[in-house]
Amino acid sequence: MTLEITRLHLASLQGVDGARWPVHGFVVTHPGGAVLVDTGVGGPQRVLDDWRVVNRSVADALADLDMSPADIGLVINTHLHFDHCGQNAVFKHAPFYVQRAELSRMRRESPQLYDWFDFMNARFELLDGDAEVLPGLEVIATPGHTAGHQCVVVRGDGSSDLLIGDAAYTPRQYADPASERLPAGQASDVPVWRDSMRRIHSLRPERVHFCHHTEIVHG
Ligand SMILES: [Zn+2]
Repeated sequence: MTLEITRLHLASLQGVDGARWPVHGFVVTHPGGAVLVDTGVGGPQRVLDDWRVVNRSVADALADLDMSPADIGLVINTHLHFDHCGQNAVFKHAPFYVQRAELSRMRRESPQLYDWFDFMNARFELLDGDAEVLPGLEVIATPGHTAGHQCVVVRGDGSSDLLIGDAAYTPRQYADPASERLPAGQASDVPVWRDSMRRIHSLRPERVHFCHHTEIVHG
């Protein structure tokens, strides 16, 4: 079974270092349909203003691929920050695969965002750790950036792609997780984050795709 990964450019925002950062989502197509990993930016206008967001509708981004939101059968959120789940509401027909620990974190730490998204009405598929979502498509629990962060692993014939989410903002953090100079927000729990980074490296992914960086790292 061949899984194909296509990156979507969903927004740009002012990153924690002051530079413009892209916001990517990923479409993973499989013989039975398509999966979307992260839905881009949404939230109260105040939040979008704070981050100097230049936003794009995920429907427009999908239209570039001759797809529409209805083509997405399933959504995976790496985590529930506003730039990763902001347009979940566009996919009301689809289940959202999220770590249970991440939904609790959001409810606890960001009640206003939680209310804004009205998450109680969403159809969640709550996960407790690693899970195979489809043959060849897995999520792995990688806490540290947030308490319930997860990465997506796509396996092909002897190859593997890692959609790293915010486990590493940039190739630099991916390459050197031991560095003492972490960008603000990279890790809410540094020791737990380093453990997750060790785990990610032990998987030896062939390609690593970032949400907030255009470079693809080849392993
Ligand atoms: Zn994040």
